[in-house]
Amino acid sequence: MRSKSQLAVFLSKLPVFTSPKAYLEQYSTDSEVAADVLWNAYLLGDVSNKVVADLGAGTGILGRGCLELQAKKVFFLEKDESLIKVLEQTAKEGVILNRDITEFDKKVDTVIMNPPFGVQKRKADKVFLEKAILNAKVVYMLGKVEGDGFVDAIAKEHGAKITHRWKYSMPLKATQKFHTKKKHLVEVMCWRVVIMQ
Ligand code: SAH
Repeated sequence: MRSKSQLAVFLSKLPVFTSPKAYLEQYSTDSEVAADVLWNAYLLGDVSNKVVADLGAGTGILGRGCLELQAKKVFFLEKDESLIKVLEQTAKEGVILNRDITEFDKKVDTVIMNPPFGVQKRKADKVFLEKAILNAKVVYMLGKVEGDGFVDAIAKEHGAKITHRWKYSMPLKATQKFHTKKKHLVEVMCWRVVIMQ
């Protein structure tokens, strides 16, 4: 990929959720936001030649983006069995792990993830962040802007440090029954957390 916009176009053609499950908080990351997050990670040296994990990979947009940016290896962890066929298409030579986040045990350089926001299931985001911090050197996590205090607290608890925060207005398509508007914008943040070793 030669540019962020080329990456965004590529990502926009990947599959998204067709029948998302609310209790697993299945929302696809918008391709423009995904491209921005991935490009930042790439420029900071956290993707090329690195072992990366996409935790709660969904249809695989973030992990696939890493492969396009020359990651050495990418793990796609996803609990929902019904997504594995889609992931097999998206993940290319990546390694698909069809398991729950609590069973993630690979040591990696970088985690890039858009996990459940913990709205449907409280603390779902906490489990993801702690797992990521324990298994990576640097973590990129997308979440609700309101989660800033919580991310900061967990990072501190583990001797990790937030080095960057990027804010986005992310379009969410009305894929769930309880959504009333066709499309609405959600304020999200991407945190870069560096783990001290
Ligand atoms: N990362 C994808 C999907 C985001 S939605 C993207 O950026 O588009 C969050 C994903 O986490 C969903 O695919 C959901 O099935 C998965 N998930 C939710 N709880 C999980 C758990 N406990 N273990 C593993 N995956 C989980």
